[in-house]
Amino acid sequence: MDIRQFSLPPYEERENIVQNLQRSLTIEARYINIQEQMKEVFKDLEVLQTSCPHIFLQSRHRSDYGKSHNRFWIEHKCPDCKKTWVEDA
Ligand SMILES: [Zn+2]
Repeated sequence: MDIRQFSLPPYEERENIVQNLQRSLTIEARYINIQEQMKEVFKDLEVLQTSCPHIFLQSRHRSDYGKSHNRFWIEHKCPDCKKTWVEDA
């Protein structure tokens, strides 16, 4: 099979294909840039929450007593850095 036997689409259609590819690449590049910024922001948040002394820590004792198995845990929330975590009681 000879590739020259294939006819090219009209010029406008080729131009449209190129423009769509350029748009797609631009959006993907912006997406990657936003992802990188989000990584930095989450890293900053982790540093903040790790260094916070959680002075006004709010803790709630929780249980699912009465269900198939009894479980007790404590939910912690810091009103300053907004970190939340759970530990077994
Ligand atoms: Zn905190």
